[in-house]
Amino acid sequence: MTRRGTRRAVGLLLTGALLVGGCQSAPERRDGPSGAPSSPDFRPGAAGIGDDYFPTYGNGGYDVDRYTVRVRYDPADERLTGATTIEATAVADLSSFNLDLSGLTVSKVTVDGADARHQQEGSELVVTPAAGLRTGTGFRTEVTYAGRPQPIENETLGEGGWLHTADGAVALGQPESASSWFPVNDHPSDKATYDFEITVPEGLTAVSNGVPQGRSSADGWTTWKWAERVPMASYLSTVVIGRFRVSTGEHKGRPVYHAVSTGLPKGPADESMAATVRVADYLETLFGPYPVQAYGGVAIADPRIRYALETQSRPVYGPSFFARGSNVEVVVHELAHQWFGNSVALTRWSDIWLNEGFATYAEWLWKEHDGGPGVQQTFDARYAEASPQLWSTPPGRPGPENLFSESVYQRGAMTVHALRLAVGDEAFFRILRTWPAEKRDANATTDEFVALAERISGKQLDDVFDPWLYGTRRPTHPQPR
Ligand SMILES: [Zn+2]
Repeated sequence: MTRRGTRRAVGLLLTGALLVGGCQSAPERRDGPSGAPSSPDFRPGAAGIGDDYFPTYGNGGYDVDRYTVRVRYDPADERLTGATTIEATAVADLSSFNLDLSGLTVSKVTVDGADARHQQEGSELVVTPAAGLRTGTGFRTEVTYAGRPQPIENETLGEGGWLHTADGAVALGQPESASSWFPVNDHPSDKATYDFEITVPEGLTAVSNGVPQGRSSADGWTTWKWAERVPMASYLSTVVIGRFRVSTGEHKGRPVYHAVSTGLPKGPADESMAATVRVADYLETLFGPYPVQAYGGVAIADPRIRYALETQSRPVYGPSFFARGSNVEVVVHELAHQWFGNSVALTRWSDIWLNEGFATYAEWLWKEHDGGPGVQQTFDARYAEASPQLWSTPPGRPGPENLFSESVYQRGAMTVHALRLAVGDEAFFRILRTWPAEKRDANATTDEFVALAERISGKQLDDVFDPWLYGTRRPTHPQPR
């Protein structure tokens, strides 16, 4: 993500109603209703996946393999109807399990074709299948729902999730967004593949992640199909509905699909989107093969979106980035996330610097590559100018309220540069290529990154990572070793 405008460093509003401490299964046994499992082996899945910063995010007891999200949205009355299929595997013996769904009303749930009992408690949807689900069992849940989707209020970021816009809608946000339009295990540690079928009034365009799968029209409606077959974290899903200048093409055998809102003046946003493949090719020289199956970007006109987000294979950019001309740096940042954050995704939100520190460092590398200031010069300027708050906030342990603070971005990038100075360019650029290769399509932690850096460099690096990631005062200015 790239932010613009002021940051309000206040607590995040948690939308879930339940707080649970553990992960996997709750300690208490609950016997099912008549016809439901009552074996002592079966227990309800937890209402949170176990993230210290966001205890209600995600759910325990299963792992999603694939979502098929089918929604119909009418901007005229702002109503959405949905029928989403979730294919998952139980990782515990489950009597019931939760999905995250916020602000929409469920009318029917089936599990493997059989009616399941369902109950909504805040943003938790509790599903009790007719029979218990044994560990290792694959199961298919279909949820039918409807309503007027609502944004998820987030004091730090402004509104996330579903927003009704002048010509349609957008679903976007970090750390959560997906649960505002489909039932989901809403945490990056449960990646899955996605198929989207989005039906909108004829004449509007619906853009989502991944590879376009065509569209079909009937009775005044058009269904747009998209497929993201590279495992994706749920917050990286998006749909943008509206009127766009669309440009398509192909690059290195992959489809290119850019959409710029007709509400934006012709020029800056279009030029910035057009830089996407050039930027991706440059980043490949640093990070290894481009990790997703499509190229693209969506530039939207709604000024309430004050950030850009690395939605997988097709980042979404708010209008302010292009207010003063074309802006390739923000494209660099969001594309760098396709490696750092998307292909290699977080296991827990506290490791957010693994995303933002590297995406910011990619901007520094791009500036140097593009004839601007060198990376060392950028580092020295940041080191000299940084605010006291940057030094008091440890990027490796920022706290949920500082998830998108300056420290995570700038001091995160400074940490990357301090590592480079400690290990030398040869080892450093090998680390930058090896991390996305070894962790491709997976989840990772800071400890795993440190271990990789130490393995490749052959150096013990506590004196780099401890002060830069976890210290609460300014580290000494690093010198090449
Ligand atoms: Zn970012």
